Order: sequence, then structure tokens, then C-alpha cells
Amino acid sequence: MLTDRAKKELKKTLAPTNLSFEKEDLVCYAYDATNSPMLPDAVVFPAAAQEVCAIVRLAFVEGFPVIPRGAGTGFTGGSVPVKGGVVVSFERMNRIIEIDADNLVATVEPGVVTWELQQEAAAKGLFYPPDPTSLKFSTIGGNIAENAGGPRAVKYGVTRDYVLGLEVVVPTGEIVTIGARTAKGVVGYDITRLIVGSEGTLGMVTKAQLRLLPLPQAGRTIFAVFPALKDAAAAVSRIIKARIIPSTLEIVDSTSMRCVEEYAGIGLPKTGSFLLIEVDGGIEGVEREAEEIRKICVETNAASVEEATDKKAVKDLWKARRAISASLFRIKPNKINEDIVVPRSSIVELVSGIEEIAARRGLLIACFGHAGDGNIHVNIMYDKKIVKEAQSAQSATTEVFELTLSLGGTISGEHGIGITKSKYLDMELTPAVIEMMKKIKMTLDPKGIMNPGKIFPEGVGPVFKKTAAN
Ligand SMILES: Cc1cc2nc3c(=O)[nH]c(=O)nc-3n(C[C@H](O)[C@H](O)[C@H](O)COP(=O)(O)OP(=O)(O)OC[C@H]3O[C@@H](n4cnc5c(N)ncnc54)[C@H](O)[C@@H]3O)c2cc1C
Repeated sequence: MLTDRAKKELKKTLAPTNLSFEKEDLVCYAYDATNSPMLPDAVVFPAAAQEVCAIVRLAFVEGFPVIPRGAGTGFTGGSVPVKGGVVVSFERMNRIIEIDADNLVATVEPGVVTWELQQEAAAKGLFYPPDPTSLKFSTIGGNIAENAGGPRAVKYGVTRDYVLGLEVVVPTGEIVTIGARTAKGVVGYDITRLIVGSEGTLGMVTKAQLRLLPLPQAGRTIFAVFPALKDAAAAVSRIIKARIIPSTLEIVDSTSMRCVEEYAGIGLPKTGSFLLIEVDGGIEGVEREAEEIRKICVETNAASVEEATDKKAVKDLWKARRAISASLFRIKPNKINEDIVVPRSSIVELVSGIEEIAARRGLLIACFGHAGDGNIHVNIMYDKKIVKEAQSAQSATTEVFELTLSLGGTISGEHGIGITKSKYLDMELTPAVIEMMKKIKMTLDPKGIMNPGKIFPEGVGPVFKKTAAN
């Protein structure tokens, strides 16, 4: 709970239109895509880094939690104020400050929507590759904090690979500039990399310098339908083995395909699984790779292999792909959504193992995702009102993680740990590594005010009690 003094100081720091203690506003900043809302005590809308500094400094002195927030599309509860406190929404800090075409660098505020940066860069013939499927809503700040990936990560890497430098307000309220806007730079520890993926627990990003690429000359979009999921998975492994790195290589199982077709109605087949594959680059290379991919799909038992020949067809396919997550609620009202990664050569074993878990437990598990980099979104569907089914879904989650780790994989490729995965942290990380992470957290955030209750199941530093009414 905020003290009266803290409230008074917040009112002194921000104009009345840029903060709120009203329940109807707080409700709008209580949730993310996990749909497990917790009310904050206040929400603030800073317009400049200096205002962020003032808010964090006050939080440090008064000892209340501050929670950075982008668009609230996170899948692990990262921006949910589980310990109450003040949500710092970056929606007003949404300027693209500069696109430096000579040096291939964009300088942006954290509230810029990823898609908008991509459009602005494309207008100058430039390319910002990270493309979380939520790109039309999610923000650069949220992408940096989660080290977001997306379909293009298979060829172009993830957000981390594009962050050159950052301006960050650290938990003691000072502002620091880290990294360098040059193509290279090795002065001191790589603190930029530490902040990327730290889920808003080590500081608030107030400005970012991002690497851009030239736009690829040409591209092709291929859509292949397979009667059996394991054959689609085998095609993925074969494509990579053939030394082809597509710009996207997405897999969608039959459950997901059926659901999204019922939801979006774009004319997808009613049965089978599909691969959505894109190649980009120089014109000749693209033709050659598209032909090779077509051949591999046929050899791995594809029922059909088609190419999207116009912009509308490509747009429709991506519309369907982006709608899968939401469309799955047609099957069951609740889902556990995991984003595991395995070595690409183990995808067949992974999907077979998941099919076995689903069959044994009588659960529906829908799989889709960025198969090209081994990153599969596993959606365990259940109805929380059916207690046995809900318990079975929880146990299935543990089994999926065990399977993933046994194949040499990792339990999160891009969604982070947040609150939903913190209890599984020690399945993957040793006590020594968790201890090292806690020491870093306590050094940078001695009062534990920066997004508390995330990543570490038992918390780090002072424990805030959640007192706000929910
Ligand atoms: C339909 C759908 C599809 C998705 N597809 C993908 C995908 O393909 N790939 C992928 O990686 N993710 C995906 N996601 C998850 C989500 O969109 C990403 O994690 C995204 O990066 C979150 O951005 P956001 O702006 O919504 O951040 P939020 O959800 O608001 O916050 C996420 C985390 O970032 C922190 N944060 C936000 N802003 C700042 C800041 N300025 N400084 C410090 N910390 C900050 C928050 O505290 C929180 O911990 C998807 C989500 C949905 C709903």
C-alpha cells in the first residue's frame, strides 16, 4: 500500500492527467496476456526519462514496488503488479527519435510499438527484424525486457541481437547509459546484455539504440500441408540439415489449424498440420531455396505444397498464424501456454513425446510455433472447473519440461519466467546459477522495489505484502 506521503510526492512529480489512483484506471493496468490480474495502487504515465527517475527515486526512498509496463501482451505475468505498487506505463514515451540510415541505427523510446518501428524503417529501405507475433501491439521496451523473438528469429536472431545501447533508470533512481551505438564495442562488462531479458527486474529502459539491416531484395512464402505432424517436423529438420536457413519456418498442428480456420475463415484445409515457410535475400538464392524446400516437403509426405503468389494470400496466412493463440480458447476455456525450445534435430522426438503425454492423460495439447529454431508453443488446454483436468494439465506441464530438458532444450525460448514459470526455474538452473542471479539482483536493487515477485519463486530481498484490493 502506498503511504499518504508517497501519494503526495507522486502528485508533485506528475501532472494530474499523468497519474491515477482510480479503480477504473487501475483495472486496465492489472493484467497481461496470462489473464491473472492484480490491482496496482497507482498507475503513472511518464513522458520523459527524468520523470521516470523521479518516480523510481521516490519508490527507493519510500520503499514501494514499481512495475514497468509496455503493452501488457506478456505471457508470463511480467507486468502484473503482484505485490501492488505503482505501474509505470510507457505509452506516452513512444517516439521514434531517429532513424540513422547512414549508420543503420534507430533510436527509440520504449513505448514504440514494434510494427511501427518496422514500418518507419522500411520506408527508408531498412529492416528491423525482431517480430514477435504480437508485433502490432507489443512495445520495444517489453521486447527488450523479454528478449522477444518471433518467426524471423530462425534467420535473424532475437531482440538481443539488435540492441546496441540503452538508457536505463536503475532501481536506486539514477539514469545510466550503457552499450555503444557503434557496430562494435567491448568496454567493460556487457551490462546491456544483462538488462535485455531481465524482465523489468533490474531497471527501466527509457531509450534504446537498435541495429537495422538493409531490407531483403526478394522473398517467397510457401505453405505445405502434412497429414501427420511428425512428417511436418521431419521436414523442418531436413530443411535445416540441407543448410537452408529460411527467414521463417513455422509449424502448426492439426488442432491449431482447425481452430484458427473456424475462427478466421481464410480457407485452410480442415485436416492435417502445416508449415509456413519464408525465404528471403537475393532473387536467385531465393528461387533456389524455395525449390529445394518444395522438394523436401514432398519427400517428407506433404499432401500439398503451395506458394502464396500475391500480397493478400501472404497477409491471410500471417493473419491466420497470428490468430492461433486466441482461437484455441474455442476448445477449452483455459490453457497453459509454454514456449519450450529443443535442438532442431530433436523436434520429431519432441512432438511425438507431447502426443504421447496428451494421449496418456486424455488432454488436448495444441502445438504450433517457430519450429525453425526449435521453439514450439505448447498449449495444454483444460477447464479449470474440472478439478481433475486442471491438475492433469499442471502435471502434463512438468512432463513437457522434463521431456524438453532430456532432449537438451530449455523451458523458455522467448516468453521469460515472470510469475507463471518461476516454480520451474530450478528444473533448468543449478542452485549456484540461481544464487549468482540473486546476488546481481540484490546488488542493483538492494531494496527489491523493481518489479518484485518475478523470476525467483521465493522472492529476493524485502518481501512486499500485496494489500491492494483485487
Ligand atoms: C498473441 C501473442 C503472440 C505473442 N507472440 C510472441 C512471439 O512470437 N515472440 C515473443 O517473444 N513473444 C510473444 N508474445 C509475448 C509478448 O508479446 C512479448 O513478451 C512482448 O515482448 C511483450 O511486450 P509488451 O510491450 O506487451 O510488454 P509487457 O507485457 O507490458 O511487459 C513485459 C515485461 O517487460 C517489462 N517491461 C516493459 N517495458 C519495460 C521497460 N521500458 N523497461 C523495463 N522493463 C519493461 C515488464 O515489466 C514485463 O516484465 C506474444 C503475446 C501474445 C499475446
